[in-house]
Amino acid sequence: MTGLVIAVDGPAAAGKGTLARRLAAELGLPYLDTGLLYRATGRRVLDAGADPQDPEAATAAARALTPADLQRADLRGPEADRASSAVAAIPAVRAALLEWQREFGRRHGAVLDGRDIGTVVFPEAPVKLFVTASTAARAERRWRELLGRGVAAELPVVAAEMAARDAQDSARAVAPLRPAEDALVLDTTALDAEAAFAAALALVRRKLR
Ligand code: C5P
Repeated sequence: MTGLVIAVDGPAAAGKGTLARRLAAELGLPYLDTGLLYRATGRRVLDAGADPQDPEAATAAARALTPADLQRADLRGPEADRASSAVAAIPAVRAALLEWQREFGRRHGAVLDGRDIGTVVFPEAPVKLFVTASTAARAERRWRELLGRGVAAELPVVAAEMAARDAQDSARAVAPLRPAEDALVLDTTALDAEAAFAAALALVRRKLR
């Protein structure tokens, strides 16, 4: 499968990360969670005491990213969620991160998950999945994930923050969250991780036949 690029896009907590990671392992491809690039950029801006909506601060942070930034332990949680979505709406931030993602995918092929992989980063990818689920199911998954990590969280707050982030990601002018025209849509509302993976693998195999 060397050289194959698979794009996995979708809203927050639809299960695309787990699914993309498993697809990559199954197909022997590298995996890139592109959300980490935006999360690490947001984190750098917060560390500098700047506003994630400030284009200058955010663009400088994106250009200064190092591989070590992607390994940080503080890239998840409500503050990082908000900061990542804010920096991701800035065109110069996206431009700074674009070539890096393309090079990663071109080297040996890859499974990349994000919001704009099938529409902007790899519009020519032969396989594109758009993984989604109902807002209620996604909010509950994110809430359980937070509780599992020992983070105190309330479901209505998690649901509201997630809806706000999805709205911002979908409404932005540059690379908004939307399925590519040729994306295969997978709704995981009624599927557990195992069933979602089986369904995704079947879609990928069918597409590659
Ligand atoms: O996927 P994850 O939830 O970690 O992404 C964090 C944020 O990064 C998203 O809310 C979105 O604003 C941004 N993002 C993006 N394009 C990508 C991946 C993530 O705009 N390809």
